[in-house]
Amino acid sequence: MRKVEFIEVPSLVSARNRRDSSVTIKYNFNPTLKTLAYFKDKKFFIRTYGCQANIRDEEVMSGILTKLGMVKVYDEKLADVAILNTCAVRENAEDKVYGQIGDFKSIKAKNKNLILMICGCMIEQKHIIDKILDKFPFVDIMFGTHNIKDLVTLLNKYVDENKRYVYVSSEVGAIVEDLPSKRLESYRAYVNISYGCDKFCTYCIVPYTRGKERSRSKEEILKECKELVDKGYVEITLLGQNVDSYGKDLKDGTTFANLLDEVASLGMPRLRFLTSYPSDFKNEVIDVIAKHKNIMRYLHLPVQSGSNSILRAMNRRYTKEEYLDLVERIRTKIPEMAFSTDIIVGFPNESYEEFLETIDLAKKVHYTSAFTFIYSPRVGTPAAKIEDNVSYDEKVKRFKELVSEMEKDFIYFADQMVGKTYEVLVEEVSKKNKELLSGYTENLKVVHFKGDESMIGKLVKVKITENHLYSLIGELVNE
Ligand code: SF4
Repeated sequence: MRKVEFIEVPSLVSARNRRDSSVTIKYNFNPTLKTLAYFKDKKFFIRTYGCQANIRDEEVMSGILTKLGMVKVYDEKLADVAILNTCAVRENAEDKVYGQIGDFKSIKAKNKNLILMICGCMIEQKHIIDKILDKFPFVDIMFGTHNIKDLVTLLNKYVDENKRYVYVSSEVGAIVEDLPSKRLESYRAYVNISYGCDKFCTYCIVPYTRGKERSRSKEEILKECKELVDKGYVEITLLGQNVDSYGKDLKDGTTFANLLDEVASLGMPRLRFLTSYPSDFKNEVIDVIAKHKNIMRYLHLPVQSGSNSILRAMNRRYTKEEYLDLVERIRTKIPEMAFSTDIIVGFPNESYEEFLETIDLAKKVHYTSAFTFIYSPRVGTPAAKIEDNVSYDEKVKRFKELVSEMEKDFIYFADQMVGKTYEVLVEEVSKKNKELLSGYTENLKVVHFKGDESMIGKLVKVKITENHLYSLIGELVNE
């Protein structure tokens, strides 16, 4: 078996005890001549799991590999380099990755030269690296979320020495500018405004896997957005684990509100942002949204629980009352705002009464959609150490109860849309019915309708004719 070289291994302890400041560096593309010759015209495959931050990371990796002269393929069996870009937020996401790595055993048996790389949040955890090294000896390279900038260095080493490599820095995390990027779509783009998270919610692994919260400079963000607008991108989503704390570390008075104002003024048809943190959400941001019609009237505002005692145990820094007050303040200024949220059911020792407070909050907000999850312990987080007195069956029961309550609001909201005409950003030919196109409205409702493929990537007007709960049917309105 090939020797493993540990360049750096992850440590949750150093991830937590990180220094205060981060640095901004320029990307250094450093292939050797041997690497350039080896990878020229070879094929790469990337499968991404999880959130938009990972999707953006895939685009950067695609950009780096394309710069090396490689070509992207969508069938792993055709690849010379395959990358699994993983997510660690929930256990079932991890299980999927283990299954996928297992599938590569036979692919590698047929293609001995295939280089299999695993990256992303899972690899930021030592116990996962140990498991992969032990169970999957055919995995060649593992690298962390901070080491995407080192991808070419790893390939240089691989071409030279052909060992197995682990390179996961548990660092503050730098901001790397001028990274190559090959965007997945030509009409919709994600733009990172900040990286990492300092909130340390007790159930969440992200502050450990993605490093300290650090903001990109406003100038770099505006430059990237302007380029996208000039290329005709229809929709831009500003990304950060907590967009509302954007700018705090810059210490020059820059805030998310003034960034959002300046980005919206660039004039793209649609602007969104993800993810908001309730107690950091400022009134100034509400004013900026109200001012710009191109900022979508859809807000993803994770609440996680409607019980103050559970929110405290989660280290979420707001109360149910403060959350409801924020929703009220937003609705007063922007009555048409649609709200979605994240909710965790069955946090350790959650009582039924505490759970009912979440249902009560949901009924008050009238969400139009939601991401609801059963609590999944993450190794190394404080919540994972709590002894839990709630059975899994009870959690499943509560989960179903919450979903069926929330669906009443989803149905009501979508019913109100029937008969009205909405602007829809056309995304693709429908996966279920090749005769239909799929797109989504400003408030992120999926709409299926008859139309021509040439409309993909464009905004069209669609009249809603039917509500199918999680999707709508409509017909194209010719203007
Ligand atoms: S705000 Fe909380 S849930 Fe969100 S990434 Fe940070 S620690 Fe995780």
